[in-house]
Amino acid sequence: MFVDVHAHLTHEKFITDLPNVIKRAEDMIIVCAGSGHRDNQRVLRLAEKHDNVLASLGLYPWDAVSLTDGETEFCIDHIRSNADRIICIGEIGLDYHWGKGKDDLSKQEWVFSKLLELSLEINKPVLVHCRDAEHDVLEVLRTFEGRAVIHCYTGPLSLVDEFLSMGYYFSIPSLVTKSKSFRKLVRKIPVNRLLTETDSPYMPLITGGRNEPSSVKHGISKIAEIKELKTVEVEEKIFNNFSRVFNFKK
Ligand SMILES: [Zn+2]
Repeated sequence: MFVDVHAHLTHEKFITDLPNVIKRAEDMIIVCAGSGHRDNQRVLRLAEKHDNVLASLGLYPWDAVSLTDGETEFCIDHIRSNADRIICIGEIGLDYHWGKGKDDLSKQEWVFSKLLELSLEINKPVLVHCRDAEHDVLEVLRTFEGRAVIHCYTGPLSLVDEFLSMGYYFSIPSLVTKSKSFRKLVRKIPVNRLLTETDSPYMPLITGGRNEPSSVKHGISKIAEIKELKTVEVEEKIFNNFSRVFNFKK
């Protein structure tokens, strides 16, 4: 079974035809990632409605920056109180791409560490976003004792071994079909540490288009080609990885 561990089905680009998008992916599992309190509520409603959509609630680093401490606590408490309805926490992480104001960064770090603590408390893995912040994410995860999936990694390849040595996983977007750097990443990571995602509607395979979960199959084919395995073998191995990390039982 195919699995997309990171999609944003609540995005406005899916407003008009979401049922069709989900229908085209009915034979796979989709983990729908939330980015803040309102989005998290939408994610829960969607997961309730569709058997193959699983909820992941989170607080995106740049969304976290604009919240007061009270609003942040409120969002985290909401995730905690819905622990039995979610498969993981995410997306969360650190993102230094849009500037490096000291207050913004310390707020991101505070939120990230709070959500990592919560993941241990409720025994769920985390989906980690890291952009231009790979060294800091690595340092934070060094002391973390839970399960983590690094989503859409675009940092230095030299750090990949360190993430792997700590037991973490990487999810590879279907854009691997077009991106040399994702192909290099796949070459470096053993197949028992790989997961697949789309980051839909982002990272479309056709420039300017809209991505959707069903495109995960293209990513799997490309991974199979790189690893010199059969597509069905890769599909099975990745599904096993998913079941292991996310504690998923059919
Ligand atoms: Zn995302």
